[in-house]
Amino acid sequence: MRIDILTLFPEMFSGPFSTSIIKRARDQGILDIRLWNIRDFAQDKHKMVDDTPYGGGAGMVLKPDVLVRCIEAVTDTRKVPMIYLSPQGKVWDQSMCKRYAKLDGFVLLCGHYEGIDQRVLEHWVDEEVSIGDYVLTGGELPAMVVVDSVARLLPGVLGSEESAVTDSFYHGLLEHPQYTRPAEFRGLKVPEILLSGHHQNIARWRLKESLRKTMIARPDLIEKRELSEEERQILDEIINEKDSRKEE
Ligand code: SAM
Repeated sequence: MRIDILTLFPEMFSGPFSTSIIKRARDQGILDIRLWNIRDFAQDKHKMVDDTPYGGGAGMVLKPDVLVRCIEAVTDTRKVPMIYLSPQGKVWDQSMCKRYAKLDGFVLLCGHYEGIDQRVLEHWVDEEVSIGDYVLTGGELPAMVVVDSVARLLPGVLGSEESAVTDSFYHGLLEHPQYTRPAEFRGLKVPEILLSGHHQNIARWRLKESLRKTMIARPDLIEKRELSEEERQILDEIINEKDSRKEE
């Protein structure tokens, strides 16, 4: 997969993209990340990339002529989706990660200051993506979030010891709790069932704990879910356990 990133601050990406899983994916040739410095496409002698907003007001807006020159250089020979990172976009979630992980590539446009000229947004951008309801200084951190969350879904990126399939959200639920050695730490024991070696019972326990966690932390995910018969039964069990605890 090839991901092109258009930014005023390419140097921000060097740490996250040369570490851990992203580094491995790049070294293996699974992920080809190309950084473009928007400023390289400014043509005046001061290399201006922004200007004051028409109508007045605070801040600066990224200029359409500079942005479009950069966009056209990147998409010269290829038609790939153009994503603008923006707090006004659709909030990024696992289903969007899965959708983008199926593509050959896409482009991420990072805004800065007050954002980009609306004409670029309307005529050159295919999708506006937000990473949450808060405002950051620039689109660089959101772009890293998008790249990381998509990269871990690409075949061959995660080793057998890591799995995206059991991660939270992959199947619409939060992941079950995880434990590792020692079996007892400062008097705190690992749930007995996980030491039993009984795979079927462990799988049921994990599903139950996953449903319990999701019900408490993210009831909206349970409401959206088409529950299987087994999940319905387990949820009833959890609710009955809560009720009997209240009565004690
Ligand atoms: N004036 C803009 C507004 O109110 O929508 C906010 C601009 S913000 C200070 C500068 C840039 O940071 C944006 O152009 C965008 O690229 C990026 N950005 C900020 N918050 C973001 C978020 N939650 N998700 C994605 N990108 C974000």
